[in-house]
Amino acid sequence: MSLETIPKDPNRNLRACLFCSLVKTFDQFELDGCDNCEEQLHMKNNRDAVYDCTSANFDGMVAMMSGDDSWVAKWQRIGRFVKGCYALSVTGRLPPGIVRELKRKGIMYRPRDVSQKL
Ligand SMILES: [Zn+2]
Repeated sequence: MSLETIPKDPNRNLRACLFCSLVKTFDQFELDGCDNCEEQLHMKNNRDAVYDCTSANFDGMVAMMSGDDSWVAKWQRIGRFVKGCYALSVTGRLPPGIVRELKRKGIMYRPRDVSQKL
């Protein structure tokens, strides 16, 4: 199997949420926000926030159907999130302003970028 068989249509413009690693198209993030983090990141109808809070640079993908039963979901810390496709590693970080905002609400931000540690 070659890498070419993995569907990667650049026109679809896939991005991964920097907070929860959910993968959707840019348009989906702009239309609906992030299904897990909208309350925190406010991406809906906000293109700037979509650029700030998602990354087009991510590795691997896992489809999560039933987070409660899945050890993969627990490993990836996505067990409590909605069903969907999640990146295994997301390159980039949330802007410092948003991280501060999360901290104020008592939410710890752990960057999704695991590629550095390998
Ligand atoms: Zn998210």
